[in-house]
Amino acid sequence: MLLIALIIGDKEIKYNNMIIAIDGPSASGKSTTALTLSKELDFLYIDTGAMYRAYTLEVLKLNIPVEDEEKVSSIGSEVDIRLINNSDSLKVMLNGKDVSKEIRMNDVTENVSKISTYRDVRERMVELQRIYANNQNVVCEGRDIGTVVFPNANIKIFMIADIEERARRRQKDLKMLNINKDIDTIIKDINTRDELDSNREISPLKRAEDAILIDDTNMSFDEQLKFIKELTLAKNEGKL
Ligand code: C5P
Repeated sequence: MLLIALIIGDKEIKYNNMIIAIDGPSASGKSTTALTLSKELDFLYIDTGAMYRAYTLEVLKLNIPVEDEEKVSSIGSEVDIRLINNSDSLKVMLNGKDVSKEIRMNDVTENVSKISTYRDVRERMVELQRIYANNQNVVCEGRDIGTVVFPNANIKIFMIADIEERARRRQKDLKMLNINKDIDTIIKDINTRDELDSNREISPLKRAEDAILIDDTNMSFDEQLKFIKELTLAKNEGKL
């Protein structure tokens, strides 16, 4: 049994294969929260959106038509996707190459939700996600984590925020990649992706019945983080 010890002040906390599942629509603040939380708790961070993005990038690189489900699915066993937890970021490796930046580019973002509707692609990604999480303390973030990937997760969070706030955050992220997009276009992009993600047949974006809803529109980042950390602590101590 793997026990990971965390020192907070003079208190030593031991977590034992704890899974924190964070789901929610696009740009709701999941990634920053999940990454920071994982660093502060010393948990493994699994960004499942990055995995679907890496798969999509490979499809585009191979010039496979995105609509061709059979061909897109056929490369599943050859696509090597790895997530490397660095001290302050996540490195996404595709077939041995660092694609952390490439997977955030427009053409990937525009096609990822289509590819994410394919059953075989999802099965492969979920299989990998469960392998990564095996015997670990994990913060796992995506759309179907609390409902499908880890239905027995110790803590389930569903994060939402107003569309304007989400668009502003996405615009800031894109600026860091030197991509300039106006707010209206970003709102349209986010809505299109959320609609596809929420209405697909397999593993749609949905709040698990036992997920705690966090609307972070007017919450500071520190408040969110503190809230989830307190939940984790309470759960670990059997108080929840
Ligand atoms: O989280 P991010 O916006 O990077 O995710 C990109 C896309 O990957 C989502 O819009 C969704 O289509 C897909 N995805 C998914 N299931 C997950 C995570 C992401 O279908 N668990």
